[in-house]
Parts: sequence; C-alpha cells; structure tokens
Amino acid sequence: ATPTALMVGTGRGAQLGVLIKGPEVLENTRKADTVVLDKTGTVTTGRMTLLAVRTTGATDEAEALRLAGALENASEHPVARAVAAGAADKVGDLAVPEDFANVPGLGVRGVVEGRTVLVGREKLLAQASVALPAPLAAARDAAEAAGRTAVLVAWDGEARAVLEVADAVKETSAEAVRRLRALGLTPVLLTGDNQAVARAVAAEVGIDAGHVIAEVMPEDKVDVVKRLQAEGRTVAMVGDGVNDAAALAQADLGLAMGTGTDAAIEAGDLTLVRGDLRAAADAIRLSRRTLATIR
Ligand code: ADP
Ligand code: MG
Repeated sequence: ATPTALMVGTGRGAQLGVLIKGPEVLENTRKADTVVLDKTGTVTTGRMTLLAVRTTGATDEAEALRLAGALENASEHPVARAVAAGAADKVGDLAVPEDFANVPGLGVRGVVEGRTVLVGREKLLAQASVALPAPLAAARDAAEAAGRTAVLVAWDGEARAVLEVADAVKETSAEAVRRLRALGLTPVLLTGDNQAVARAVAAEVGIDAGHVIAEVMPEDKVDVVKRLQAEGRTVAMVGDGVNDAAALAQADLGLAMGTGTDAAIEAGDLTLVRGDLRAAADAIRLSRRTLATIR
C-alpha cells in the first residue's frame, strides 16, 4: 500500500466530516457486510421531550412530576433530561435527591422529599417488588404502541404514573440507511428501548422488522455484535453512548457519533464529526474507493 494514497483518503475524510484513527482502519470498511445502528442519539436526535403524564386515580400529577423530575435531574440519560426538563416546566424548581442511584438500562432510584422513588422500566419496579396495576400497564402499552418511551414512576412501594417521552428520528437517517444498503450493507437497529418504539423507528428509516434487536441491556450490546460475528458477518457499528463503547470496540469497524460521549469516540475507529449518519455511508464509500486506488 502506498502511504500517500492512504493519507489522501484520510484527508478527504476530514473534509467530509469523518475522522479516521489510522489507515489500518480502511481495510475493514471493505469487508463490512452488516451495519448495527444504535437507536437513541444515533438514528434519532436523542433530544427527547416529555409529552404526556398518566396517573392512577388517587395520584396528584404535580407530585409525580416533582418526585420523578428531582430524581431524573441527577441523571445524564436522554430520557432523564426530558423528564427533568418537562417536570421543571410544569412544577418549577426541582428538589435535590437525598439519595440517588443510576440503574443502567432500567432507570433511576433514590430518595426525594423522604420518599423512596423509582423511575424507569417495569423491570426496575419488579426488582423492588413493586407491581404495575392494570390501568398503568395499559397506559404504558398504549404509549409504546404509539412509538413513545413509557417511563414508570413509583414511590413508597406503589406504581403511580406513566410519563410519555419521545424522540424524533433525524431528518438524515432514512437517506443514510438507503445509502448504507446501496453499499451492500444490511442495517440492524439495536436498542435498550422497547420493541414497539424500536419497530416504529425502524419502519420510519427503512430497516426490516426482522433486523430490530430491542430491549438489550447496555452490557449485552457487545454480545449482539459478537453473535453477528459468530454468524460470519463483518460488523460495522455506529453508536454514541457510554453504553455503546464496548460494542464499538468489538465491532470490526466502530463508528462514533462526534456528538456523542467521549467513551464512544475513544472506542471507535472513525468519528462522524457532525453526528450525521449519512457520513457513515460516505466514510465507507470513500474508504473503499481509497483502497481501490491503492491496489
Ligand atoms: P438506548 O439503547 O436506546 O440508547 P439505554 O440502554 O440507555 O437506551 O436505556 C434503555 C431504556 O431504559 C430506555 O429506553 C428507558 O426506557 C430506560 N431508561 C434508562 N435510563 C433511564 C432513566 N434515567 N430514566 C428513565 N428510563 C430510563
Ligand atoms: Mg445511544
């Protein structure tokens, strides 16, 4: 290989908004046949908003927002940002939790105003033996069927509210998926979010329902990549979160969103500076062309 051609390739990459860690990365862009796309922050903007609050009969909506908002205000998760911002909008200043723990992939738990509060998925509540009453389960199912993320709120051992949060698909994502397909790659959507939301996003950007892998715990994303590799696939992975770092490192080609976390950027082989998924297709096309020039 001629070092000059490789340098031209990486220089052109910078113009396209793609930073390549080293010329050795290029070889894997040629072999990749599968592209795993993280959902939140990669295919979607990751800027979620609180759209609705559903409570059980006796529950005061403002109280649910006060407690959930205070707890989520201590978390950096996109869902947490939406809940805290939406709550602050409606109820004003949020309290500082007396105790707080982040439960990756499930939610948060802590103590606010002397109450033990849980905010997140049903599994988080189940771990604390908190049951989900039928009306709240129905509200959760309706929210998810509409493509929204349902955030459950419980305190003092009782589930009391469902917060509906949603995130928009980036305008460029559908075109990016088309371009990745045109390069011969099979797109797969990977997320910790629920099946219904994942399928709605997949449909919107043109990923087959059979290639949606949802409700994956953060530490299991890397196993999904390993499984695809064990099937003989060469895997490119695009992600943005701390949760994606191990999977990005495991992938044959890791592409990190420049708008994402430092952990993801460090784990990736390539950085898409503007956070535009189309740059993933540009990077792969460009690298292949650069290799063709060298040979
Ligand atoms: P993704 O893979 O989509 O980037 P995560 O693995 O971080 O998402 O989280 C998976 C799911 O867990 C979220 O979609 C959400 O339902 C729930 N969750 C995680 N963190 C929180 C939180 N702080 N508050 C509420 N729900 C949360
Ligand atoms: Mg993400």
